[in-house]
Amino acid sequence: MSENKKKKYGQSIDPQKLYFLPLGGSEEFGINLNLYAYQGKWLAIDIGIGFASHRYPGVDIVVPDPTFIEERKDSLVGLVVTHAHEDHVGAVAHLWPRLRCPIYCTAFTAIILQNKMADLGVEGADIRIVNTDSTIYDLAPFNLEFAAVAHSIPQTAAVLIRTDVGNIVHSADWNLDPQPVIDDGTVEAPFRKIGGEGVLAYIGDSTNAQHKGRAGSETLVAEGLKNEFAKQKGRIIITLFASNIGRMQSVMRAAQECGRSVCVLGRSLINMNAAARQVGYLNDLPSIISEERAEHLPSDQIVYVVTGSQGEGRAALARISRGDHPALSLSRGDSVIFSSKAIPGNERDINDLKSLIVASGAKVVDHHSSDEVLHVSGHPSRDELKDMYEWTRPEIVIPVHGERLQLQAQSDWARECKVPQTLVPLNGSLIEFSEQQARIIDTIPTGILAVTPSGLIPGTHRSLTQRRKLQYEGVIFISIVVDRRGHLADEPQMSTHGLIDPTFKDELEIIEDMEEEINDIIVDMSVDDRSDDNFIAEEVRIGIRKLATMTFRIRPRVFVHVSRV
Ligand SMILES: [Zn+2]
Ligand SMILES: [Zn+2]
Repeated sequence: MSENKKKKYGQSIDPQKLYFLPLGGSEEFGINLNLYAYQGKWLAIDIGIGFASHRYPGVDIVVPDPTFIEERKDSLVGLVVTHAHEDHVGAVAHLWPRLRCPIYCTAFTAIILQNKMADLGVEGADIRIVNTDSTIYDLAPFNLEFAAVAHSIPQTAAVLIRTDVGNIVHSADWNLDPQPVIDDGTVEAPFRKIGGEGVLAYIGDSTNAQHKGRAGSETLVAEGLKNEFAKQKGRIIITLFASNIGRMQSVMRAAQECGRSVCVLGRSLINMNAAARQVGYLNDLPSIISEERAEHLPSDQIVYVVTGSQGEGRAALARISRGDHPALSLSRGDSVIFSSKAIPGNERDINDLKSLIVASGAKVVDHHSSDEVLHVSGHPSRDELKDMYEWTRPEIVIPVHGERLQLQAQSDWARECKVPQTLVPLNGSLIEFSEQQARIIDTIPTGILAVTPSGLIPGTHRSLTQRRKLQYEGVIFISIVVDRRGHLADEPQMSTHGLIDPTFKDELEIIEDMEEEINDIIVDMSVDDRSDDNFIAEEVRIGIRKLATMTFRIRPRVFVHVSRV
């Protein structure tokens, strides 16, 4: 960002007013990064990863570009991490070294975060464990209280932000599970209390804002799993989100009930289980057995819990289904239970995985084929959002955490629920609160950074834009050697990528024709032109690009190197 722009963005912020600024997560699922500003100070909530779209070939994971807040890091009073899902905590270890502020989160989230920091070799982070017991944390000029909410991972907290000019409820992800299987669920009192004091804005989860009704309860899933397990005679293989510790507990109880031992396959599940036990979850259950012991148990005495419910190619379930997992391969009589739902965009991969499973002779049990409840969402449906609006009575609802579709759905629903004002932000919308009103006063530049083996690179990095072009257009490399007078000293050499298959003879002939064309182009040049290597390269590039475009009906990239002997 240029010095000029920095000044401009700084100027639009009045220290006497309160601001909200999402840098990520308000146009997509993932890369959540939310900021608040007041009295010259900044507060950050969550820094998560996202899955790279097809626009970034060769990249799996992206993180939000933190440049704007990095430039103001001396005024950053803290980073709150609401829970340990990847879209909220996943990028903290990558980006905290650029911010170096204190981090506030619950104990379970802290363990997950510490493990991530250790993996990346990040040291020196000041992580402060918070409680959801109505303690007030003074991050002047922000007063924070953390409220326990039900979600599909332990110890999730909503953030109640109190300032001199108004209160904000920043909920992050939650639902109103009436009977959660771990933790106490969403505690109503703190929301009602701040609602009584007056809430300027409610800012939160839009994931399921299009869905009517309620998310349901993990207790129903626990029942469903018990019933489903009881129906199975052969081996049970079950896949779920590794971080859903409550679900893991339900699987282990269901296994115990029908006399089966549990074996866990997949690194993220093993790590998550260890973290859960460290803070006191799952400890009253039988221990998990080793792969070796599992192998020798009869089919009706074993449950394998495996990673890979989203069809991830490198996860345990995909490897098991392909027959290349050392501990388990599928056979007739096995049942693979999906205790999960597709994250939007993963449907194709999951279908391919299920086809592989069926081809091995095993059976797929999922929400289509089973009469049992095998999964509930961790996000609020409309009736739950309505309850939250009634508890907190906000002047304004600002939907975040979703694509435009889900954000607009929450906005429309909030208006139906008689919330006086709603405002749908985009990433970078600088929202100013004044006199019970919110308006977008500026747009701050945002973007993504791609996580690559050699570090973080901007989404606009030339390597990525070139990669994107190459995958659709193909490429031709030409090498020409000329003598002092500019005559060809050898046959021109040409190689292509993404255009021909040399095992097809007539396609090889295309290359020969092009090499002849290069010859002709050079022979036709004047003595003067031939003395200039750059001119030769450019003439050949233009000529071959034209011919290739006619031949292949796409416009490949052409690179020409001329050397003189
Ligand atoms: Zn979450
Ligand atoms: Zn989330």
